[in-house]
Amino acid sequence: SANRLAGFGTSIFSEISALSAQYQAINLGQGFPDFAGPAFLKDAACSAINADLNQYAPSTGLPSLRAAIARTWERHTKASVDPETEITVTSGATEALFASIMALINPGEEVIIFEPYYDAYPPNVLMAGGIPRYVRLSEPRWDVDFAQVRAAITPQTKAIILNTPHNPTGKVWSRAELSQLAAIAIEHDLLVLSDEVYDRLVFEDHQHCSIATLPGMWERTVTISSTGKTFSVTGWKIGYAIAPNPLTEAIRRVHQFVTFASATPLQAAAVVGLNAGEPYERQLLQFYSARRTQLVKALGDAGLYVLPPQGTYFVMADIRDLGWDNDAEFCRYLISEIGVAAIPPSAFYHDNYQAGMVRFCFAKKPETIAAAAEKLKRLG
Ligand code: PMP
Ligand code: GLN
Repeated sequence: SANRLAGFGTSIFSEISALSAQYQAINLGQGFPDFAGPAFLKDAACSAINADLNQYAPSTGLPSLRAAIARTWERHTKASVDPETEITVTSGATEALFASIMALINPGEEVIIFEPYYDAYPPNVLMAGGIPRYVRLSEPRWDVDFAQVRAAITPQTKAIILNTPHNPTGKVWSRAELSQLAAIAIEHDLLVLSDEVYDRLVFEDHQHCSIATLPGMWERTVTISSTGKTFSVTGWKIGYAIAPNPLTEAIRRVHQFVTFASATPLQAAAVVGLNAGEPYERQLLQFYSARRTQLVKALGDAGLYVLPPQGTYFVMADIRDLGWDNDAEFCRYLISEIGVAAIPPSAFYHDNYQAGMVRFCFAKKPETIAAAAEKLKRLG
């Protein structure tokens, strides 16, 4: 294999899902819903296929989808965006991230990544020939040490990858934190790639804020999101990048030679999903708020200390009170002996740092979480 793959292992999500299947465990590991996607959305996809929307979409995305993404963005941010020149539909947020990094990072340029990170970021940067520079969020509250961010910047620094709401910690970056990050980006003329795939999953009085909407940030920010989480159809892989035209032009030039276009009928269905708007989003959040409460309680009852997540559909649980310190060993035990799968977050640190926690996903039916809760009782 090519030298650039040196050090790329198997994604932790594939590894844990395989182990979970082998032991027939309840899989609270990889983040995906175990319940059906909304019927109106599935009907829309079937209708699109039956209406023969089955050939290539325009490379940049169906105009109707780009328009729906623009309307959604405007509804949430009160900022406007041009769907013709500033939005690109991609095959999931995964492709949007890859295309953005390939489009904007030169070999030898450095990219700041916060740890724990979504596992695709470092390989994406490395494939572009870039150099990841890591800044660790401090547990238990996942605070940002901005002095460390500043210390990580060199003349080679080109970009910062931000993820809010944050996988795996559930942290939702506050407007104050984003303002501090924005000040650094502006001062050092950096790009920000902001992964906001969990933008609709924010709980209680926390607020999602897109850094692109802060003063001086639009021209330097790529905002990446996905319909997979919002519409409970992670297998559809319809994502998008929102960026000012010069950045969008570059992203589109990569995208046309990576996938060219994303699945046409699923793009058509995503329009129907986005048009369901605020009432749909409210219902989704209600469902997830209840699942969050249910899983947080189950983990607490099992003797695992948890800080309820501010956003996402993940929760980090402390394993140290149970006498464990190695998260991978704990996850193997949990899967094989207890029958529940979780993700070891050391996979989200470049040096396999042990935060003493594991990540559970609550994008699950109430009965799935209840069954896991029963099994978790045996931990205590
Ligand atoms: N970023 C983050 C933080 C994620 O959790 C995910 C979902 N696994 C992705 C990107 C990828 O999104 P998609 O499935 O749309 O490619
Ligand atoms: N985003 C999902 C998670 O964090 C997994 C996506 C994947 O399997 N690559 O669990």
